[in-house]
Amino acid sequence: MRIGFVGLGNMGAPMAANLVRAGHEVAGFDLAGPWVEGVTPAGSAAAAAEGAEVVVTMLPGGAILREVASAVLPSMGRGAILLDCSTVEVAAAREVAAQAAAAGIGCLDAPVSGGTGGAAAGTLTFMVGGDEDAFATCRPLFDAMGARAVHCGAAGNGQAAKICNNMILGVTMLATCEAFALADRLGLSREAMFDVVSTSSGQSWSLTTYCPAPGIGPSSPADDGYRPGFAAELMLKDLRLAQQAAEGAGADTPMGQRAAALYETFVEREGGRGRDFSAVLPWLAERGRG
Ligand code: NAD
Repeated sequence: MRIGFVGLGNMGAPMAANLVRAGHEVAGFDLAGPWVEGVTPAGSAAAAAEGAEVVVTMLPGGAILREVASAVLPSMGRGAILLDCSTVEVAAAREVAAQAAAAGIGCLDAPVSGGTGGAAAGTLTFMVGGDEDAFATCRPLFDAMGARAVHCGAAGNGQAAKICNNMILGVTMLATCEAFALADRLGLSREAMFDVVSTSSGQSWSLTTYCPAPGIGPSSPADDGYRPGFAAELMLKDLRLAQQAAEGAGADTPMGQRAAALYETFVEREGGRGRDFSAVLPWLAERGRG
């Protein structure tokens, strides 16, 4: 397929490279102008979109997505598809889908989980909102960039699934870090806590796959000095998106709200920016009560 790709950052560059590897013809544009092997550089987002059957976007947030959508939609042909893989507000995804529909262009919101490792390995999971036919058309692209694509319903539902998942992730990571910090103070070894909890009812992905305690469980960013991985500020971004969506929908999410507040403190006042989101453990362990 002929693909336009806008946003060749940490995630976008390896995703575009996987599309090239799968035999697609990719024209790419990024404001910062990185070079990706096999991707034809375009002079603007609109130029990358010209003649493309699908335009993939992988951008930092909703405001930039709105801007890029307004730039690319006029140069896309009727029947082409805008496939946005960024994590943005549910409302932004729905607005952009409506704008595309008015121009006779298909649109999917397809945020991902799996991080930069999954993007490079082509094992991302896509959570997709939008039209079934557009989902079917984009299937070969999901296969090239990921291991799994789940159709979640109408426009915006991919973003809804993503923020619900990441709200659970933020909360379970904080709970797991708190439990390790408590175990330390109670004189319970981290190994013993891991051995018990990983096979008991407190277990979660945050403990067994991405253990925040170094030297325990499978290898994780904790074993690499908390180099991200998934940066704490990206977790904060997703928790804020969840709170924004909850407010708009009138949902009560007290744990998500507390998790957002804790990550805000960690990122903005406690040196968490640029560290993995599991680095909350050394912060809490050292801080103690008080
Ligand atoms: P990034 O900052 O590395 O990449 C974003 C790219 O967009 C940058 O290269 C930037 O130059 C480019 N850009 C910004 N404005 C632009 C414009 N107007 N036109 C063209 N290019 C523009 O971010 P990333 O880590 O690749 O994340 C991208 C998206 O994926 C985000 O929405 C993020 O929340 C989501 N995400 C990231 C991860 C992760 O682990 N990094 C995991 C899942 C989802």
